[in-house]
Amino acid sequence: MTYQYWHQDIETMPRPELEALQLTRLRDMIAYSLRTSFYAPRLHAAGIKGPEDLKTLDDLKRIPFTTKDDLRAGFPYGFLSIPKEEVIRLHASSGTTGIPTTIYFNREDLHHWTSYVARCIYGTGCNHTDVFQNMITYGLFTGGLGFHAGGEEVGMLVIPSGSGNTTRQFRLMQDFGTTVVHATPSFLLHVESIMRAEGVKRDSLKLKRAFAGAEPYSEDTRRRIEGLLHIDVYNSYGLSEMNGPGVAFECQCKDGLHLWEDGYIAEIINPDTLEPVRDGETGELVLTILCREATPILRYRTRDLTGFYTEPCACGRTHRRIRRITGRSDDMLIINGVNVFPSQVEEVIMAMKEVGNNYLIEIEKDGVLDRLTVKTEVGPATFMDDSRLLNALKERIRKTLQASITINPRVELHESGSLPVSEGKAKRVYDKRPKDV
Ligand code: AMP
Ligand code: ZN
Repeated sequence: MTYQYWHQDIETMPRPELEALQLTRLRDMIAYSLRTSFYAPRLHAAGIKGPEDLKTLDDLKRIPFTTKDDLRAGFPYGFLSIPKEEVIRLHASSGTTGIPTTIYFNREDLHHWTSYVARCIYGTGCNHTDVFQNMITYGLFTGGLGFHAGGEEVGMLVIPSGSGNTTRQFRLMQDFGTTVVHATPSFLLHVESIMRAEGVKRDSLKLKRAFAGAEPYSEDTRRRIEGLLHIDVYNSYGLSEMNGPGVAFECQCKDGLHLWEDGYIAEIINPDTLEPVRDGETGELVLTILCREATPILRYRTRDLTGFYTEPCACGRTHRRIRRITGRSDDMLIINGVNVFPSQVEEVIMAMKEVGNNYLIEIEKDGVLDRLTVKTEVGPATFMDDSRLLNALKERIRKTLQASITINPRVELHESGSLPVSEGKAKRVYDKRPKDV
């Protein structure tokens, strides 16, 4: 296979050079950080008075971690490092875990961000002949404008369709010959059933690829979407604190996501001890942004769980790969004392072909115990009135789940298309237990 690179010199830069570039850029970020009301006292307390106090990349470890709570406490301008008049855009996180946090950009910062997204898009085989429909929320959420700018940079025809209104989405795909889409994986899982319901024929579409991100999904879900829509699906990872999309992305090898190390310094730590994990082990990703003058953020605890690959990638890129994010250290559920990640449930049910494309997890209190219910849709070919078949399927899901998560769930089967669908990030976990217990 021949691989195409957007910034070949940077994407394949030998590691010693890449690390030297990181150090230069980190020193720049220290200079900007010292101008913020949040970092100035922290850096001084760590004995860092100027960029020259960082002699090696290892000196980064002298700086304490930054958390989401820090960003909230610094709202609105605690992390702003340039005069407000020089800021040309702000974005805010979607706030799925609480109050949103705000990030500011100057022109240079936006240019850097756009170039990372362009690099990701081009690396999947896209080019200026593609028609790109960005089926994700525009606005404060970074997925809309971030991908939009990256697509334009590559020279694709970008259709800013936004999320929702699926009938119109199909019209746009047919009218303009869309070849690439960007959406959440949970939305992509629904596209095929909506196509069937609306009588849209696959061969009336020119779709080849999709970028899917903004929420965790398993390898089985990727294969399912690829099978349903006959397209290639690429995993896209990013977070608003680190610009948004364009932090890490799959190349055509589809084996891990290259994290752009000229733009970010990545560490993986044990979320309990805060010590680095051994290479290849899973832990929490910690990121330092290297090219954002308006809002520097150092050693940000993303809460996202992943691990580094230890082998280099066949595509020739030298930037390290991280594994598909399996969940967040703060979305872990404790059910009757057992730690369960929603991704474990997803992995089990999406691997069963009789199961449909939507599911929910509900936890309630039942006396002193917790009760877990997994509600899943059945596939469109399953008849809801065949109770023998349904009971057998239910029992099989229950047993397989129990083998994986060690607790015994209740399983409910629902008709295809009957569970609620969200257009943005899917809400799948309903924890109905009283909060003070
Ligand atoms: P936001 O700041 O609203 O864009 O949300 C960012 C968060 O979404 C990340 O910290 C992850 O928890 C999640 N996320 C984004 N992309 C992915 C992905 N490809 N796989 C798993 N989780 C993702
Ligand atoms: Zn690669």
